Amino acid sequence: LLEVADVSKAFGGNQVLTSVSFTLEKGEILGLLGPNGSGKSTLLNTISGFTRPDGGSITFDGRSIACQPSHRIIQAGIARTFQLPVMPEKMSVMEVVMTAGTRQHGLFNGLLGLPSGRKAEQEDRARARELLDILLLTKVKDLPAAALSGGQKKLLGIACALMGKPTLLMLDEPMAGVHPKLRQELVETLVNLSRQGISLLVIEHDMHFINTLCQRCIVLDRGQIVASCRPDELAQNQQVLEAYLGHS
Ligand code: ATP
Ligand code: MG
Repeated sequence: LLEVADVSKAFGGNQVLTSVSFTLEKGEILGLLGPNGSGKSTLLNTISGFTRPDGGSITFDGRSIACQPSHRIIQAGIARTFQLPVMPEKMSVMEVVMTAGTRQHGLFNGLLGLPSGRKAEQEDRARARELLDILLLTKVKDLPAAALSGGQKKLLGIACALMGKPTLLMLDEPMAGVHPKLRQELVETLVNLSRQGISLLVIEHDMHFINTLCQRCIVLDRGQIVASCRPDELAQNQQVLEAYLGHS
């Protein structure tokens, strides 16, 4: 479904991604691991059109998407969430999700699901209600989005991303800041999405989460992929151990 080949990115003299290549199959849940600063979020940014890669190719569903603007990539069926979601000051939770369903450009973090055409507002509202329910945000739907807790904002970011019915959902540390009980429910929600045919690329530090959710994972270390294996193989992988323990 997604093929990333030889993607590189530097900021000034700082080489953040070096010849990154991997594929993600349709229906797969792929984990993306790596130490802080290893380039995980930057890789997500290049796939989702928020950062222009210096070189390499990115193909989604057989079409080249490298260097396309983010709204085109959303229209192609890729949605994402942000590591630190920022919500608009003056909108309620419901309004934010509704806006995610109708606007053509992702102008703020989390505003990332776009329908392929203009949908009836009623249909959008029903879907927004359903997503808020799934993500346990029904109780707070009329509160200002900016007033939500960090964990709730993460869940709201997922609701926004799903409004556009993506075929690939990319999540940047969805579990960080989410209560353990909610984490379990979020795992179930993500597994259900996967059963419905949505593919997932998930950045995560929590190994338990990676183990229970992902079929395969890739590991970045200083901008390079050092492993691609099943989660249960990570502990025996020398390069992974070195990535986490071997350098300061
Ligand atoms: P974490 O686990 O802490 O979220 P990460 O693997 O997601 O880390 P990135 O956010 O991709 O790491 O950052 C990788 C490197 O790229 C860092 O050194 C960071 O400072 C640099 N970087 C990222 N975005 C920019 C930018 N817009 N301008 C300059 N440098 C950047
Ligand atoms: Mg990050």
